[in-house]
Amino acid sequence: MISRFRLLALAVVLPTLALSVTVAGSSVSSALVAPVMLPATFPVQEPEAETRLPHVLIVATGGTIASRAGSPENLSGYSVADTGEDLVAAVPAISDVARVTVEQYSNVPSTVITPADWVRLAQLINGALEPQGEAPYGEVDGVVVTHGTDALEETAFFLNLTVRSEKPVVIVGAMRPASAISADGPLNLLNAVRVAAHPSSRDRGALVVLNQEINSARDVTKANTKSVQTFAARGLGILGVVEGDRPIYYRGTERRHTHESEFDVSGLEPENLPRVDVSYTYAGADGADVDAFVAKSARGIVVATAGAGATSRGQSAALRRAFEAGVIVARSSRTGSGRVGGGRSRGGSVSADDLNPQKARILLMLALTVTEDAGEIQRIFNSY
Ligand code: ASP
Repeated sequence: MISRFRLLALAVVLPTLALSVTVAGSSVSSALVAPVMLPATFPVQEPEAETRLPHVLIVATGGTIASRAGSPENLSGYSVADTGEDLVAAVPAISDVARVTVEQYSNVPSTVITPADWVRLAQLINGALEPQGEAPYGEVDGVVVTHGTDALEETAFFLNLTVRSEKPVVIVGAMRPASAISADGPLNLLNAVRVAAHPSSRDRGALVVLNQEINSARDVTKANTKSVQTFAARGLGILGVVEGDRPIYYRGTERRHTHESEFDVSGLEPENLPRVDVSYTYAGADGADVDAFVAKSARGIVVATAGAGATSRGQSAALRRAFEAGVIVARSSRTGSGRVGGGRSRGGSVSADDLNPQKARILLMLALTVTEDAGEIQRIFNSY
């Protein structure tokens, strides 16, 4: 299989990130938590130019797709067990589609992923997608991130706003563990690689691929606790499907993303994203959470309002206090779809358009890295 080897000088790689290389036809990876020195040379596979398949970097973070339970019938009592390398090894057909390199970023349920991890992932992916290709990856044509589904949409939307490349970035997970009867992870992973490797996936923003559907990272949300058909872009619909061995697209996305984005996290300290919290509207909500967020130095508060912007009396009073203290308030909705319109109104708050609260929070966090002006922040919500 391997025609020749190239000696690649590998000295120092990204601090705090994992490191991996492809050797002798299989992926080798190691999760690292500190800066790492490798031997000065390391053999790296370089296929003949004429047989060169797209090179896809798989960044593994954990989730159900990497989990195992005690028996095939057990679909819920599982824990993270498999590495990204294990996931790739379970799907030999991937090698017909792409050359893959696996980066084991973490191996955790998705609710363990933090905003600091989003920044580190964006920095890792941006480094990997540099036009000339940087060590240790070389030229990368697309990226797949394996991720737990619970918080998948949050990491996906952050990458949609911060990856500065037209190359495809695909986030994939599974609803059933790898040990399950009818596990959905293997086909989801193969389809994710097919999407990431295909030129028609370029310049579409970050994409979420599960259950043969391709959704925009901006629009999609987890819509069912258990079903394999859980991801939905309510009111907007899928971008396309994976059929046979390739993606088929039906529509694009209008909002700014990836290489058109004004958000640059390359120099951002991962822990330094501005604090933004979410306050949920419900009957009789007294706004105690809003006061607590302000006391914790929140710079923004997203409100999961009832309907198209309405809040309870106590919450409204607390939000007014927060606004007067200089906190940016953004109105989203708890309904699950539709716009909160009206632009800036209701005591100076901004409209989060049709972004759900967890997505609006991410956009507000990034907006606050570039401006504190409410008018500018409204422009940002109108654009992304
Ligand atoms: N608990 C899992 C997670 O990491 C759920 C999943 O991946 O489907 O989000």
